[in-house]
Amino acid sequence: MLPYMNSKDDHHRRCATGILPHQQPRWLPPPETLHLWKEFETPEPAEIAAIQKSFLRHVTKTFARTAFNMDNFASYQGTAYSLRDRLIDKWNITQQHHTREDPKRVYYLSLEFLLGRSLDSCLLSLGVKDIYKKALDELGFRLEDLIGEEVDAALGNGGLGRLAACYMDSLATLDYPAWGYGIRYNYGIFKQLIVDGYQTEFPDYWLNFGNPWEIERLDVSYEVRFRGYVNKVTEEDGTISYVWEGGEKVVAVAYDVPIPGYGTMNTINIRLWSAKPAREFDFAMFNDGNYDKAVEEQKSAENITSVLYPNDNHMVGKILRLKQQYLFVCATLQDAIRRFKKTNRPWSDFPYQVSIQLNDTHPTLGIPELQRILIDEEGLSWDDAWDIVTKTFSFTNHTVLPEALERWAVPLVQDLLPRHMMIIFDINLFFLQKVEKKFPGDRDRLRRMSIIEEGHPQNVRMAFLAIVGSHTVNGVAELHSNLIKNVIFTDFVEYYEGNKFTNVTNGITPRRWLHQCNPALSDFITQKLGSDSWVKDLEQLKKLKEFVDDPAVQKQWMAIKRQNKVRLADYIHSITSIQVSPDSLFDIQVKRIHEYKRQFMNILGVIHRYLRLKKMTPEQKAKEVPRLVVFAGKSAPGYFIAKLVIKLINSVGEVINNDPEIGDVLKVVFIPNYNVSLAEIIIPASDISQHISTAGTEASGTSNMKFVLNGGIILGTVDGANIEIGEEIGEDNIFFFGVKADEVEDIRHLNRYRKIEMDPDLRNVLDAIEKGTFGDPKIFEPLVATLTVGGDYYLISKDFASYIEAQADADEAYKDKVGWAKKSILCTAGMSKFSSDRSINEYAEKIWKIKPCSVPATLP
Ligand SMILES: *Cc1c(COP(=O)(O)O)cnc(C)c1O
Repeated sequence: MLPYMNSKDDHHRRCATGILPHQQPRWLPPPETLHLWKEFETPEPAEIAAIQKSFLRHVTKTFARTAFNMDNFASYQGTAYSLRDRLIDKWNITQQHHTREDPKRVYYLSLEFLLGRSLDSCLLSLGVKDIYKKALDELGFRLEDLIGEEVDAALGNGGLGRLAACYMDSLATLDYPAWGYGIRYNYGIFKQLIVDGYQTEFPDYWLNFGNPWEIERLDVSYEVRFRGYVNKVTEEDGTISYVWEGGEKVVAVAYDVPIPGYGTMNTINIRLWSAKPAREFDFAMFNDGNYDKAVEEQKSAENITSVLYPNDNHMVGKILRLKQQYLFVCATLQDAIRRFKKTNRPWSDFPYQVSIQLNDTHPTLGIPELQRILIDEEGLSWDDAWDIVTKTFSFTNHTVLPEALERWAVPLVQDLLPRHMMIIFDINLFFLQKVEKKFPGDRDRLRRMSIIEEGHPQNVRMAFLAIVGSHTVNGVAELHSNLIKNVIFTDFVEYYEGNKFTNVTNGITPRRWLHQCNPALSDFITQKLGSDSWVKDLEQLKKLKEFVDDPAVQKQWMAIKRQNKVRLADYIHSITSIQVSPDSLFDIQVKRIHEYKRQFMNILGVIHRYLRLKKMTPEQKAKEVPRLVVFAGKSAPGYFIAKLVIKLINSVGEVINNDPEIGDVLKVVFIPNYNVSLAEIIIPASDISQHISTAGTEASGTSNMKFVLNGGIILGTVDGANIEIGEEIGEDNIFFFGVKADEVEDIRHLNRYRKIEMDPDLRNVLDAIEKGTFGDPKIFEPLVATLTVGGDYYLISKDFASYIEAQADADEAYKDKVGWAKKSILCTAGMSKFSSDRSINEYAEKIWKIKPCSVPATLP
């Protein structure tokens, strides 16, 4: 038997993470050895000698290196492993403390965690960065170099996955008893290379050189069933029950990623599941000489958690993805239930001990899965079970884009999860009966609200299932929460009479997105505020407003910005060989490439600027504000139009950057392979960042928050969290443009049914593309056609004039150095609201009903 193939009985006996005082441990140490255990359970002192010893022990013993066989990667590994020991000390104390206290816990379920690198953030959270730096310095290593050796953990596409990572940081920092659950993909989001201006994808085999930040837990594993059949059993008393049997089984094995809170003991866990075969392989098949097939079966189990689907805000109905979703919720619920059962509480206590948050609809199968466990395995009645389910789950909606809303074909679900399909039909039946009662005779309403969408085939509307099965549904910014209430879930708002729907505006962790990525600014803020407590209490940034008119502060503030621009310029040169001037205005748009985010409008605006410059005399050009336009971001591999946008950006850059008449007045750079560690270099260097989605399409955005926190100014539409950022920092400190969300539908209607003249400046820009100014115009025909014959769904033409005007306003404002410095300071000073600490406290109080549970430095 493989170690992860525990018998069911074993699961109930295992006590890996914490035992209760009344429980009899399976083994007791000889009393004369207790001091040894105490020594090893007590966190090591943060002293240079101890750090160096631990580093050398790992380098020599764990990695079998010698003094004459060292490089930066080996010393990164040694450092990471020594830090990992410290994390595990805190993690063990935290888990044991939580087991004893048994507080209500929150389970944050997300198919994506975009964590990025861990070394720097762990050093800062544990408060040992300076001492590690010294210890390594003495040994002849530069900490900065080691940090650069780490590969990103990129188990997410973009904003949604990064949000989950920021929320874990805040949950840990605020001492909440929380667990993150996710999937340990062997391949994260693909690596992007630009070849001849086109995006090309390479697999991201991030585990190639090991992962110091995970703890493999072969002792924590659960069986997961797929397919099979449902047996109907009639008991002697006439009651009917169902048993799901047969099919195939795989095993989900746990990998734990400890997440330390900043400046606190609390160290929580992200438990990532990896699929393994349930049997090593079929020996009968093997003995029959059918070796290939036996191995194949093994491979097909491992395939389930092999690769992250690379689509952002776009649903693709692949069966493997549905398998990922079910394996994920199945293992997670078994784990949560095992923990709940340790204390022998009645099932009715479950919702008071367990809160489960669904990060988008991806884990929605958890709802029918918990219902199935309660009725089929635990013997509860449907109504008692459903009461528990609907008091346990809450759901965050992340988008209103129709192509992003998850719908799974009924035949597919039926085949893979036959019992769940039955339960979903029943949930729907009982729900629609209640709707019918409330709105008698309203058949169209029943059709609109049905969890099952009629058609060939029928589809399960996952968002509707998530709403019906949850006690609370939230959007991620004020505008977005209003849109879901008034546009996509209106019938549900009416049915639930407004209860259930709420808003929690997204946030970002100020630890990573200011303190870590912008150390110079962080130090300066600490110096001005007289304390570093703002790192855990972002409200204190408001006090920066007192310094806004202080010329010395303005000067130092902008000097730090310039340092960060130099750092980015150096990076750009090292990657692309393009030389950019740190004295130009850095105008940055970095995010997933998507039509609704309108990178296309940005590059069309760049062409417009180029054409304008080409008409100028050298004297006129010298008066222009030099501008560097930076793009970065990945397109889904199958998203043809988005990939053409990348090609256009690179083709335009090629022409402009090599035009001797232009020089530094305009440069265009596409930085390949946008990810978290690249964001940490780019974001502190922005003067302007663009967040220019068609109004109503970007649910919140979080990179807008990262930029403004670092003193960058937004040029953006009245959309998502841009609106609330504007309210907090003041409208003078943000460049808004474009139509409002409530105008969009009417404009689209006119675009469809009337001949609307294209914006004349935009027409000129398209003419230049069509003339071949940026290479073979045939290449860009399908892209241009989205504006000319495709109805311009994202309203680029409508917004173009006001976009160009906002850009001109930004140029003008940038000429006033003092004015700009003030804006920049007021940006950072006004960002308190957008700490993920604020978001998490709102979730904890309004939705999860959980309280902090602070962990002592040592256990009694
Ligand atoms: C923050 C972040 C995002 C989200 O960016 P938006 O502009 O809000 O879409 C995406 N990718 C990475 C790597 C990030 O750090």
